[in-house]
Amino acid sequence: MFGLGQVIKLTNFQTFITEAEDFKNSTISIDRLRLMIGSIKIDEKYNLVFDNYQQTFIQLHEKEFFRSAVYVEKQLVPSRYFSQENIIIENLNRYHIFRCQNLNNLIHKNIELSATAKLNGFFKYSFINSSGRIILTNYQQPLLICKNCLLEFNRLNNTNFEINNFNPSFIVSQI
Ligand SMILES: [Zn+2]
Repeated sequence: MFGLGQVIKLTNFQTFITEAEDFKNSTISIDRLRLMIGSIKIDEKYNLVFDNYQQTFIQLHEKEFFRSAVYVEKQLVPSRYFSQENIIIENLNRYHIFRCQNLNNLIHKNIELSATAKLNGFFKYSFINSSGRIILTNYQQPLLICKNCLLEFNRLNNTNFEINNFNPSFIVSQI
């Protein structure tokens, strides 16, 4: 017996293709939103790409690129002693805006990377325990820029920012 009330809709191939396309496009627009307000995981679905200056972009569509900061979103912490008040920004993973040596190392080691186009200095960031379980996710976690990326930014733009006064929003208006 088939389930009662089920309607099996026969459709032609073109309708199927159109519906599949619609689904794909809606997935991309959700991911675009997540990239703009939170973060997305960089995986085989979305490419991390670089321009001539080695700046980091996420490619969502064939012709859709977003300037993005790239970082390791999960950090292992000893859960027994962990509390939000003890978070020291200097000890958290840094974000990258160029293909620097540190980012290259992360890529080669296959470390899971996230990207965000929300460039206000506050990142989605999770703290995990040794079994990989998330203890806390902050959606507004301040992070510092990677030293190599800051050097490269200053070199290209002839600026003198320091780690503590750099904000990722600067990258939108520069170069
Ligand atoms: Zn870097």
